[in-house]
Parts: sequence; C-alpha cells; structure tokens
Amino acid sequence: MSRAVYNFSPGPATLPESVLRQAASEMLDWNGTGVSVMEMSHRGKDFLQIHAKAQADLRELLAIPDNYKILFLQGGGSQQFMQVPCNLLGGKTSADYIVTGEWTQRAIKEAARFCEPKVAASTQAEGFTRFPKQDELKLNKKAAYVYYCMNETVHGVESFDIPHTGNVPLVSDISSTFLSRPLDVSRFGLIYGGAQKNIGPAGLTMVIVREDLLGIAVPKPPSILDYSLMAASDSMLNTPPCFAIYMAGLVFEWLKSQGGLAKMQANNIAKANLLYSALDESSFYRVPVQQDSRSRMNVVFFLPDERLNDEFIAGAKQLNLVNIKGHKVFGGMRASIYNAMPIAGVQLLANYLREFAKKHG
Ligand SMILES: *Cc1c(COP(=O)(O)O)cnc(C)c1O
Repeated sequence: MSRAVYNFSPGPATLPESVLRQAASEMLDWNGTGVSVMEMSHRGKDFLQIHAKAQADLRELLAIPDNYKILFLQGGGSQQFMQVPCNLLGGKTSADYIVTGEWTQRAIKEAARFCEPKVAASTQAEGFTRFPKQDELKLNKKAAYVYYCMNETVHGVESFDIPHTGNVPLVSDISSTFLSRPLDVSRFGLIYGGAQKNIGPAGLTMVIVREDLLGIAVPKPPSILDYSLMAASDSMLNTPPCFAIYMAGLVFEWLKSQGGLAKMQANNIAKANLLYSALDESSFYRVPVQQDSRSRMNVVFFLPDERLNDEFIAGAKQLNLVNIKGHKVFGGMRASIYNAMPIAGVQLLANYLREFAKKHG
C-alpha cells in the first residue's frame, strides 16, 4: 500500500491511486501545452480532445446505444431532482416514484414543484431495507416517467433488477452505482449521476438520455436547464466543469485498462461478499438491509450498542481504515467500497470486523 489510508468515504470518495498520480504529474503542464487543464480554454482543441475522449470512453464502457446522448452537466444529483421533471413531463401532470430511501424522498419532494408525483411503491414503513418487487409497483399509464434510485447511498439499498414500465420511460438516479457493473442502458429513458461517488471529483453530473425525450419539455425550461439545448451544444452551452471532466476521463481510461465493467462487477461482488460474510458470521453486527437488496457499494451495519461506535471508529483508524461512520441522519456504520477501493483495504476491514466482534461479543 502506498497511500496512507484506505478511505471508505461515501462521497466524494476514493479515486484510483494511479489516476491521482497521473493528474499530479500533469498538473502544471498538460501534454506539453505548458498549461494545466484548469487553465485552458474549454473551446480550444486541447480541451475539446479531452472532452471528446471522455465521452467516447464512457460510451464504450457502458455500451451506450447510438440513440442516446451523453451530457456533461453541473449541479449534482440534486439538480437532476428538478431538471428531470422540468424536461420530461412533456405536458403530463404526474410521474411515478419508487421510494426506497433518502435520495428518492428528496427527488419526489422537488418533483412536487412541477407535477403531482405518485408513489408507485414505498418501503419507508419498513425502514428502507429493500427494493420493492415488480408486482408491488402501482404504475400509472398516464405517468410521464417512472423514477427510482438504483442505489440508495445512505441506506445501502441497491436494486439489481430493472423495473418493467411498459411504454412509460424509466428514469434512474445511478449516482452511487455508476460504472460499478454493466447496465442495459436501452431499458432506460434517462439515467444520471454525480461523478463524486464512483467516478471522479465533485462538480460533474452525467446524464444519459434517449434522443426522443429531448425537446419535449412544456413549458421550455431556462436554457441552462434544457437537456435539448445542452445536447445540441455538446454540453458546451456555457463553461463545463473542465477539470472534473478531465479527471473522469482518466478514470474511464483506468476502468478500460482494468478490464471494463464486467471485471469491476466481479471485483465488487468479491469485495461486498468479504464484508457481508464477516458481518453475518456472528450475531454481533446487525445488517438492516435484506439479502437481495444489499448494496455492493455502501455496506451499512450497526454495532449492538451505539456506545461502542467511537471505539470501533478509533480502532479502525489505527489500522488506517477511515471514514466508516454512517450517515448523520441514519447512524451506525457505512463502508463505501466503490471501484477504486482496493480489495486489500476491504480484507483489512473484514479482519477488523471479526476481531472487534470477538473482543466485544
Ligand atoms: C450523493 C447522491 C446524490 C446527491 O448528489 P449531489 O451531487 O450532492 O447533489 C443523489 N443521489 C444519490 C443516489 C447520491 O448518492
């Protein structure tokens, strides 16, 4: 291990060491231009090349079909909570939301400013511990779209099956599972995610949208929020988040060099299994999320007594395992193990889980 710690932060999150080293080596002079990526014009040929390469690599990694546009936007996932209804309602008055945790709750609240969002299913009464099954979804044929969050980062609930919604376009917030596994993009009308969970620095939000959904907004949104104008200008209506796009591009190259998303999926399954099996081994820890909805990215668990939390965190820190405290509203512990978390870090944490349980169990 050459970095000082293993960082289990949920986001902004750990990035591949080789990517950070490359960015450091290019910080003062990108490719012999004498300037940093942060200092170059977003309309100059050098940045346009970085931008085009990042887009092409993302398309290749996710096998994004030709009839989908990739938009490199700003404003985070939170901006999409309003930008999605703003652009996709197309004159309709409702949209269906599958409510599975903190992030869909926030999204539905914003959608309510633009339409009458309907709850297609909610697991709130069960404490957000699973993703609903297809036959539980109450879908409304007149909905403009069906919305869900593929991985609820706070609760550690991930959906592995893509819901069937007939002719109604499916929209998903994939912020915290983006590029962690292959995904059949053709099943969606739109997917989006902020970069800072699994892809790069904060500041870049990626939207992948089917072309027939562009330009349907009524009334027309403000230009900067209009997907169709952003698509027409190749996300260059204004200055894009240049440095974040460059960093994401380096991560895309890294992903390709590692064997792509099938390889990432295999690694991520192996890493998640290491932690969940250490947690399940004894009755010491409590994992609230049901087996088939357990996130491979954010492993949420509780100690038997909240008073042990500080000691648990301090002991982990001694082993250079940092940022495993749970979300402030939810408590407990959360280990985020995105693509860039090495298996060695997860192995260390699994060993620590066993030792801590033995000592206190
Ligand atoms: C972090 C996160 C968001 C919010 O992202 P911001 O960039 O902070 O707006 C939205 N959805 C999910 C699933 C997230 O994990």
